[in-house]
Amino acid sequence: MTYVITQPCVGVKNASCVDVCPVDCIHADDDDEQFFINPQECIDCGACEAACPVNAIFEEGSVPRRWKPFIQLNAEYFLKQRQAKKKRK
Ligand code: SF4
Ligand code: SF4
Repeated sequence: MTYVITQPCVGVKNASCVDVCPVDCIHADDDDEQFFINPQECIDCGACEAACPVNAIFEEGSVPRRWKPFIQLNAEYFLKQRQAKKKRK
């Protein structure tokens, strides 16, 4: 399981979650609309969920139905980064 960042982060992106993550698995570039959680590295501690001022973060199984696509969006963000790194090698 993992935690997932959803729609309310868009346009807020204040990085409170990044500050509390013990494994540094929440990332975004400056031009990204929101932050993303790396599902391969998240240890399910829940610290980020409590820190988010707009309730954008949910445990994977509790993501509201309308925001389910964000589960894949978070995972794909890191998949694309890995593929880009491979290409550069
Ligand atoms: S649940 Fe914990 S480990 Fe996972 S992203 Fe949030 S703070 Fe980081
Ligand atoms: S704390 Fe919430 S709003 Fe702020 S960057 Fe993290 S997910 Fe986005």
